[in-house]
Amino acid sequence: MNIARHIKPVAVVAVSDKFPVMPPGLEHDWRALNDLIDHYGQRQPIPCRDGHIEPSSAWTSERRAERDAAAKACSNCPALTQCRDYGIAHPKEEGVLGGLTPRQRTQAAADRRQQ
Ligand code: SF4
Repeated sequence: MNIARHIKPVAVVAVSDKFPVMPPGLEHDWRALNDLIDHYGQRQPIPCRDGHIEPSSAWTSERRAERDAAAKACSNCPALTQCRDYGIAHPKEEGVLGGLTPRQRTQAAADRRQQ
């Protein structure tokens, strides 16, 4: 499902140049997340965008070893926390998000519902 077409454009609020945050209520917004990643990406490499591992398609690979390598590379991402929150809110989204596979995100979403 392409959720981006259902989402109104938004601007990411930068509290400071170092720690931009998504506006309240937009934690589930794909465009807001991408704006945030773009913002961070101007200062630091984003592993899934900047060729940190080969193949670059590892984040959506069917191969477990490649997905695991992608998830490990996420640990160096400045947007890890926000990407993981988005991914847990959308566990059916394809691929590794925030260092978690869809299966891990489904489990994390279930855990959060029980809290
Ligand atoms: S946390 Fe991982 S999937 Fe999310 S933007 Fe960073 S590198 Fe990409």
